[in-house]
Amino acid sequence: MNRKSRDIERRSRLLVDGRRGAGPVVYWLSRDQRVHDNWALLCAQQEALIRGRGLVVVFCLVTDYPGGEQRSYHFLLAGLAELARQLAELGIGFVLLRGDPALALPPWLHRIDACTLIGDFDPLRLKRQWQRRLLAEIGIPFIEVDAHNVIPAWIASNKREYSAATFRPKYRRLIDDYLTDIPAVIRHPHPGPAASPPLETDRLLGEVTGRRAGPVNWLVPGETAGKAAVETALNDRLPGYASRRNDPCGNGQSNLSPYLHFGQISAQRLAWRVSGAPLAEEDRQAFLEELLVRRELADNFCLHESDYDRFAGFPAWARQSLDEHRGDRRPYCYSLAELENGGSHEALWNACQRDLVATGKLHGYLRMYWAKKILEWTSEPEEALHIAITLNDRYSLDGRDANGYTGIAWSIGGVHDRAWPRRLIFGKVRFMNEKGCRRKFAVDDYITAVNLN
Ligand code: FAD
Repeated sequence: MNRKSRDIERRSRLLVDGRRGAGPVVYWLSRDQRVHDNWALLCAQQEALIRGRGLVVVFCLVTDYPGGEQRSYHFLLAGLAELARQLAELGIGFVLLRGDPALALPPWLHRIDACTLIGDFDPLRLKRQWQRRLLAEIGIPFIEVDAHNVIPAWIASNKREYSAATFRPKYRRLIDDYLTDIPAVIRHPHPGPAASPPLETDRLLGEVTGRRAGPVNWLVPGETAGKAAVETALNDRLPGYASRRNDPCGNGQSNLSPYLHFGQISAQRLAWRVSGAPLAEEDRQAFLEELLVRRELADNFCLHESDYDRFAGFPAWARQSLDEHRGDRRPYCYSLAELENGGSHEALWNACQRDLVATGKLHGYLRMYWAKKILEWTSEPEEALHIAITLNDRYSLDGRDANGYTGIAWSIGGVHDRAWPRRLIFGKVRFMNEKGCRRKFAVDDYITAVNLN
């Protein structure tokens, strides 16, 4: 077996076998919305080349995805329109189906007599339900590929990891073998179905039900823009990352999470570039810790903890401690609507919320603070969790993501963290306050900057 086949094979798993149809190989693209550096597309192309078949990529558009807003669909649809054009240039078809994949895909696969179905790995509940229901309906082989993580989530660890400290050694043992260059997808030699008409993104956007968060214009969607953003990050943002990434006024983060979330850039390609870039070693290591260990640990949590977005998913020490503090008097107690409108008593928190609503991105350090205050200012941890997830999914471009559910569970429920000295309301969950922020960065400058925008 050559290197490329081995690399594809170890990122793939056959979930159901079946009888191959006489038609094209189909890649059901969902989490990894890119043409280049995509192991799932490479897997589908390899299968199509071996069988001498055409190759089609299909996307199922669900216009009422939980938390989905005009903002996120605008990013998604613009990315898909570019993807369809790039696929056409490579002789690969693109089809957009509408609605629940478990309902929309089977009759279409049947109609085209599909040969094999390839799909993206995704640890989130709804995606796994789609996949489970779909697999019960198709009679052809289904191969799942993890093109999102550098080390496939099912290989990195086969259990829920307690913390980064338990995950990191397992990850480090494997990463050198998995962090490689990625082969190119080639122009496909076997004809597939006739080309689809260009995607009517404006019309499709009009059908999206979420209308609270409009598109943002500071970040251009799509694979090409994502590649350019990687270059900007490498040149301007990653030098100094180790010291600046926790300063919300410092422009020290890469801003790549929306591209990573939609799969418009490959984490492996990014990590590969960062590994070979002329960066200070402490910046390189600090960035790779976030991009690889923390990001893939979030997938580990969502894969192995079915309650990843519920109180029941918190570690036992945190549940017990939060339970003991349920009766604590809450000096401030806000509703979802009050918080959504940035109507708390505190200027910093309100600025965070306004920033999130206006730009679709809150700085990583402030996200922790923002979520912890929601725990402090709501009636119970379950309510805090609900509000934090609702607002993060609704307004963050990178929301509806394993990183978001894990980051919120870390902030509110001590997931991947340790017990801290006991405090009111928080119990043993790590506490943060405005004073701590003032020690870290120029809080008033941040508030002024948000209010000027
Ligand atoms: P950089 O600092 O440049 O990091 C590069 C990449 O590393 C990120 O794009 C991300 O993929 C990964 N990364 C960085 N920090 C973390 C982390 N703590 N955990 C996991 N991966 C990380 N991230 C999301 O992608 N979507 C979310 O919805 C989300 N919600 C969060 C909510 C809360 C309450 C918290 C505490 C964290 C959340 N994070 C989320 C994680 C992290 O804050 C963001 O990934 C990061 O701020 C994105 O900005 P960046 O790309 O500029 O990050």
